Amino acid sequence: MMKCKKCGIKASVNMRHHKMALCKEHYLEWIPEQTERFIKKYEMFKREEKILVAVSGGKDSLSLWDILIRLGYQADGVYLGLGIDGGVEYSHESQKLTEQFAQQRNLKLHIVDVEKEYGQSIPMLAEKTHRGYGKPCSVCGLAKRHEMNRIARDLGYDVLATGHNLDDEAAVLFGNTLSWEGTYLQRQSPVLAESNGLARKVKPLCRFYERDMAAYAMLSGIEYIYEECPFSVGSTSIYYKEMLNQLENQRPGAKLTFYLRFLEAKNSGLFAQPIAVEFATHLCQKCGQPTSAPDLCSFCRMIEKVSLEN
Ligand code: SF4
Ligand code: ZN
Ligand code: ZN
Repeated sequence: MMKCKKCGIKASVNMRHHKMALCKEHYLEWIPEQTERFIKKYEMFKREEKILVAVSGGKDSLSLWDILIRLGYQADGVYLGLGIDGGVEYSHESQKLTEQFAQQRNLKLHIVDVEKEYGQSIPMLAEKTHRGYGKPCSVCGLAKRHEMNRIARDLGYDVLATGHNLDDEAAVLFGNTLSWEGTYLQRQSPVLAESNGLARKVKPLCRFYERDMAAYAMLSGIEYIYEECPFSVGSTSIYYKEMLNQLENQRPGAKLTFYLRFLEAKNSGLFAQPIAVEFATHLCQKCGQPTSAPDLCSFCRMIEKVSLEN
């Protein structure tokens, strides 16, 4: 029987990558303590700042919100209705669980429905713009970035927090390393500073394994949507995650080392050479967000194009 490292009773969670097992009570203390440590280490935000958490109804973002509240931060949530249904009514179900989470804890949740706001759901936009060869992911990513930035700015939040975990970050890092995407590698970080009027972006869970977050959500009784978005099936990021899991099975801790050594290498100047970054020099005439195009940002251009065709 595995025993809790802190109190010696039967452990609920065994973390091979940390060579540590904890009981439920100590695990539910340990995760927020570690999160607080990462927030300070990477200088994510301070007590007095207003945080907007991007919540999807999944275990990571709801756990992040839960942890920030437990730690005493001022954190509100924002949920973006994408209008994605598939067999499980993905959007409908995830919104319901997010609303329930906020209600039970008396938290402030902003809900933005892309279709109500722009007359088109994400799958409709993807179909009409023929982007992404049948998968709406590129349109979806564009819309999420645009809307999250807009809401954070319009409502005066200092920082936008997302629930990306170590598995997400390691998969992105792996993909970018395979093709040595200098600009993306340079930008990948637990904190992206505020720039051009866009809120600072932070990923407080970036050092936790996905399974650790699943254990946290389960042990703290958070009801979340188990299904992934139906469009994520067969994506490269899932493929990379599976590959990294195989590596992790043979060498516990490999995933964390891969990510942390990358951050260290970056800090010590691995990417210090100037890399041609496409600087956003204009402000979009419609939404006011920074863009490299002279008139409209790519999101507003897409919306305009689709509306003209209707
Ligand atoms: Fe959007 Fe779903 Fe694609 Fe994720 S998998 S980017 S939620 S469409
Ligand atoms: Zn214990
Ligand atoms: Zn715009």
